[in-house]
Amino acid sequence: MVVAGRKLLTSPNGGFPRVADLPADTGWLPLGTLDGVPAWGAAVTATGDVPGRWRSWRALAAQVPEPLAALAGRALQVVTWRRGHRYCGACRAELADVPGEPARRCPDCRLYVPMQLSPAVLVAVTRPGPVDELLLVRHSYGPTELWALVAGFVEAGESLEAAVHREVAEEVGLDLGPPVYFGSQPWAMSGPGVLLAGFTATVTDPAAEPVVDGRELVQARWFPLDALPEALPPAYSISRWLIDAAATRATG
Ligand SMILES: [Zn+2]
Repeated sequence: MVVAGRKLLTSPNGGFPRVADLPADTGWLPLGTLDGVPAWGAAVTATGDVPGRWRSWRALAAQVPEPLAALAGRALQVVTWRRGHRYCGACRAELADVPGEPARRCPDCRLYVPMQLSPAVLVAVTRPGPVDELLLVRHSYGPTELWALVAGFVEAGESLEAAVHREVAEEVGLDLGPPVYFGSQPWAMSGPGVLLAGFTATVTDPAAEPVVDGRELVQARWFPLDALPEALPPAYSISRWLIDAAATRATG
């Protein structure tokens, strides 16, 4: 997995480059394995030096199987993290890679700097009705035309469940019953180390309407689960998996 900026290199035959395809002095970072084969990531600056096509993670994820998309996302996360962790935060010496780990260590004071994760939550909020309804929101930034789920970063000292309650209260002013865990997905698009945890939850007061804060969100409304809008998050995202699962549950 070869990364330049936010793009990944695919080889001329449409696959991913092999370690031998790149110069011998390339600095490789371990990414784990795919189908038992060790996978490595590297950052390059001169994109013209290697043959192939540079593509965004979104374009790749829309086409390749999920395990490969996840590996490409990991490459993007590890390489981006490394770029932002050059010097020791304690003594300012230049950090060195720890062989075989996504971690760095200070050669002078021995400070160990592992790659840390940033957990975030997203939640499919529903309310009962003749057909159950799903809460969808539009953001003031990013892909603003999309109808998405309420989401946000977990704060220090907070549980995932508490983060779900807080984000929904802050962003749309609704109270929820207990969040139920759905699944998770690493999400390189929101920065290195971002891990999304998906939940479902039901509002405590089915008559309550969402009120947006006007800063992060510009719109929020209930949609019957058999009449969802067209502009939904892409098929390779946990947002969409949550929405599709809710729709399947409600409509059989
Ligand atoms: Zn140090």
